[in-house]
Amino acid sequence: MIKQRTIKKSVQARGVGIHSGKTVNMKLLPAEPNHGIVFRRMDAGGKEVKALNVFVNELVLSTSLQDGDVKVSTVEHLMSAFSALGIDNIVVELDSFEVPIMDGSSSPFVFLVQAAGIEEQDASKNFIVIKKPIKVKRGDSWAELSPYNGFKISIEIDFDHEKVKESGQKISIDFSNQSYLKEISRARTFGYMRDLETLKAANKALGASPDNAIALTDDDILNEDGLRYSNEFVKHKVLDIVGDLYLLGANVIGHYQGFKTGHFLNNELITTLQAKKDAWAIETFEEENAPVSFYSEDWHNTL
Ligand SMILES: [Zn+2]
Repeated sequence: MIKQRTIKKSVQARGVGIHSGKTVNMKLLPAEPNHGIVFRRMDAGGKEVKALNVFVNELVLSTSLQDGDVKVSTVEHLMSAFSALGIDNIVVELDSFEVPIMDGSSSPFVFLVQAAGIEEQDASKNFIVIKKPIKVKRGDSWAELSPYNGFKISIEIDFDHEKVKESGQKISIDFSNQSYLKEISRARTFGYMRDLETLKAANKALGASPDNAIALTDDDILNEDGLRYSNEFVKHKVLDIVGDLYLLGANVIGHYQGFKTGHFLNNELITTLQAKKDAWAIETFEEENAPVSFYSEDWHNTL
């Protein structure tokens, strides 16, 4: 059977919170089968919130989860790394309300999980298999999940900036033959410097800088080392989608397609999917009948 996964031992990292601008300490701990992904606020008496769609409460600048009075922000890049590495069970301890932004990509989180080591557990891994297409729209933007024997993302963005246009606004990536770790994990978030100044004046995004984002001026980028991938912008959107979908609580077997999507539309898509019970099913697989080499390279290479 394809087994559930956790990490072998605890690991720690330290970084800056994008909202507060303050240092955040994060510790990842192994968890037993069927535990799921849980955030634990050590600065709030160890209160917990599960990394599930029902707890999503804010999607403006990043994805936040809230259960009662416990809130955790900026979970999407960490969730993206967990999804790509197939981590089902883990505890994320934080001493602040946000996950550190690190370099604005998921690559430091991938590195951290790999440093801890991945352990297969004696329990079948659940997958969410898309059975019927589900589509949501908002203005001219849309997102869709449809049946597919594997995991594939095909998107187009429409960002009116010379550097983004040059680098390409369209991508289709099938994770059965393309590696998330190599092709996606290093893609950083991006934004306009002029928006950042407005946000900072309103006491938001205090930790944001060209150290954790691609910083756009009106017609150029400020980062001295340039882009990490020729099409880094659209690749970061893929990274976000992988993280947003993982709030379903399991890896998806299906094809995600979208135009001008964001955290808000992705959340609407998975909420709509969850409500339509005949559009999906939870399934487990034996190795020999698994959907074509799902995340094959990454899952095998990291064990
Ligand atoms: Zn992002």
